[in-house]
Amino acid sequence: MTVSSFNPPSRMLMGPGPSDIHSRVLQALGRPVIGHLDPEFILMMDEIKGLLHYTFQTTNQMTLPVSAPGSAGMESCFVNLVEPGDSVIVCINGVFGMRMVENVERCGATAITVNDEWGTPIDLNKLEDTIKANPDAKAVAFVHAETSTGVQSDAAAISKLAQAGDMLTIMDAVTSLGGTPVMIDEWKIDACYSGTQKCLSCVPGISPVTFSDRALDVIRKRNHKVQSWFLDMNLIMGYWSSEGATRSYHHTAPVNALYALHESLVMLKDEGIENAWKRHQKNHNGLKAGLETLGLDLIVDESCRLPQLNAIKVPEGIDEALVRRRMLSDFGIEIGAGLGALAGKVWRIGLMGQSSTPRHVTLCLAALEGVLSDIGAPLKGNDAAGAAQKILLQA
Ligand SMILES: *Cc1c(COP(=O)(O)O)cnc(C)c1O
Repeated sequence: MTVSSFNPPSRMLMGPGPSDIHSRVLQALGRPVIGHLDPEFILMMDEIKGLLHYTFQTTNQMTLPVSAPGSAGMESCFVNLVEPGDSVIVCINGVFGMRMVENVERCGATAITVNDEWGTPIDLNKLEDTIKANPDAKAVAFVHAETSTGVQSDAAAISKLAQAGDMLTIMDAVTSLGGTPVMIDEWKIDACYSGTQKCLSCVPGISPVTFSDRALDVIRKRNHKVQSWFLDMNLIMGYWSSEGATRSYHHTAPVNALYALHESLVMLKDEGIENAWKRHQKNHNGLKAGLETLGLDLIVDESCRLPQLNAIKVPEGIDEALVRRRMLSDFGIEIGAGLGALAGKVWRIGLMGQSSTPRHVTLCLAALEGVLSDIGAPLKGNDAAGAAQKILLQA
């Protein structure tokens, strides 16, 4: 067998991530490699930290990109803050909350779970009762934007409850960062991780994280060594610290991926993060109008719906996987399947980062309408794209 170059097909990425990447970011990837301790590279690292401060809306000194995907960012928050014998309250309303439980248990700690139905936000009353019943718990962990269901929970209120119980907060903002407001300082979040391939529209494989001074204090006072050498923030800080001259080798940074992250964050700053939030909302409104025209329902209540991740109920009798396959083969459009409890029951359409544009909404709706009518699905009306454009073309 001869193997030659791999050339990916042309796609529009409208699933739960990765999202489409701007050519400016792809071009940044192709710039020459320089040493990861080169003074010029270190200046760029400092700029990335500054841009992440803006993106996370924080002044936290310990704010940096972990050299691995969002799941490693998740792990870095848990392994640094949680020790054997601790207990942590974990809110579960989808797949990613379940992964938090796995993380807590692998730290040798106990997870106390607050379970909510998939497709609904975290119930604040239940959380408050659990905090009161477990005053010794060290932290409250929750997913801000549940990508598996398309639900956003009230992070400010959750954090307030945790503070009242004198507990740390650990927040997953993989899907929210860059798409909807993430206010680390205002909400007093202690540890937060995100990913680059969702609303930041960068290459997959990097995880921005931020830790409050309170969290740093907890990390410094640990009784046990952090069980992961690679993710030990005490060591990583030696590499990402602000003292350029004393920066020491920990691992070889993914140099080109960091060029790409720098470029995507510059683009976000140029757009203005508030404008990015508005753009995500407007494109969601367009998609919603088109789906309504076809008689398709979003499973999440409007009050807690994520604009960047739309979970759509598969109509009775429709082959969910066939529709996704046809979207991909006939139009080159990737949409997502349901996960866990929602497998086979929903499609997930992501409008994240560079995939949140009128072009994406229009083409996706036209393609979906075409595929559904071709397989004989009963549709309430037609010209979903036209309905979306009534919103998308407004100034
Ligand atoms: C995608 C995602 C992750 C995991 O990120 P990876 O980069 O795939 O490791 C974690 N949490 C949420 C909410 C996500 O959407």
